[in-house]
Amino acid sequence: MAAVGMAAVLAFSALADDRRQELAGEREDASSNLAQQQAQLEEKEDALSQAVQQGQAMKDQKGEITDQIYQLSEEMALLEDQLERARQSVNQKQAEYTAQWDQYKEILGGMQLLHDQGGLAWLAQAKSLYQLLTFSDTLQQMSQAEDEALEVLKTEKEELSKRQLLLEDLEAQFQAQKQEMEEKVQVLTGQIQQQDAAISAAQAEKEAQQVQVQAAQAAFEEADDRYEEYVRQQIAQGAQNHTLYCGLEFGCPLDSYAFLSCRFGEPDGWSGKPHGGMDFAANAGSTIRAAADGVVQAAGGSESYSYGYYVILYHGRDEAGRTIATLYAHMNEAPPVSVSQSVTKGEAIGRVGNTGNSKGYHLHLELRIDGQRTDPLAYIPA
Ligand SMILES: [Zn+2]
Repeated sequence: MAAVGMAAVLAFSALADDRRQELAGEREDASSNLAQQQAQLEEKEDALSQAVQQGQAMKDQKGEITDQIYQLSEEMALLEDQLERARQSVNQKQAEYTAQWDQYKEILGGMQLLHDQGGLAWLAQAKSLYQLLTFSDTLQQMSQAEDEALEVLKTEKEELSKRQLLLEDLEAQFQAQKQEMEEKVQVLTGQIQQQDAAISAAQAEKEAQQVQVQAAQAAFEEADDRYEEYVRQQIAQGAQNHTLYCGLEFGCPLDSYAFLSCRFGEPDGWSGKPHGGMDFAANAGSTIRAAADGVVQAAGGSESYSYGYYVILYHGRDEAGRTIATLYAHMNEAPPVSVSQSVTKGEAIGRVGNTGNSKGYHLHLELRIDGQRTDPLAYIPA
């Protein structure tokens, strides 16, 4: 009878272990898929913010050049004023020169007439001797003065024309600069349009990835729920197989530890979700002890499984009939106890490690009442 019972328990444990491994594997796959999707999301978020930054840099550059064009246009307007005045001066000087020249031509005409017809012809026309004598001299003096005035006007006009040419040259330079900048702005405008399209595409990719992450998150939570449900079933199975009374008199599972690194309900270091247990930061290899008398309900895990190497102890029912169990996670190696083995309070059931979802050596301790995670500090002395 006892042998049959033991065989049944062993068969059950073997089946239970397969089922546990399967569920744990599913949970692990879902977890790594989730991590992968999240990493991809981060990449896509980085790509998006990079694209946005590049786009902003282009827009800044365009703004700068547009400002420069505006300044240049203002300078060009001033220059155009100067140029207009220079042109007017040149025209005015030209007009003065032409007038002076016309006057000069008249005098020259007079001189020519005097020369062609000879002094005698003038005798008849002259009204006085003085007029006759001085006429030729006067004409010559006049022509000399006109000649000098024309020379001055010519020089002045040349100076003004030079200035006009300089200004026109400057204007041409400005015009070329402006055109170059306007071309840059045009190129940038095209690039900005392309970049905006790239940003939209990156945004769409990011959003699509967010959907993937949500799906992976949901899949993980389902797998986690299934596994969690399984742990509860295991504890319930323990309650079925063993009639134990739990007086809720617990001992600390560690002889010594450094500090409580994460309490129950605080955001955990992995998912940011409320912590389901209590973490004792402790030296690697520190002995982990059963918090109370009980039966080993699960013992196993792996390096990569979220709990790492772990043990579940079933302690029996309390006065209120609630099932009481404890869970010890992240052990350094496969625990030295096996399923269905009875343990007494204070007995060594493993050593502190850093396996599974763990960042540093610590014991993750859970207290489960009717399968539900409960704050261990409510019952277990730390
Ligand atoms: Zn923990």
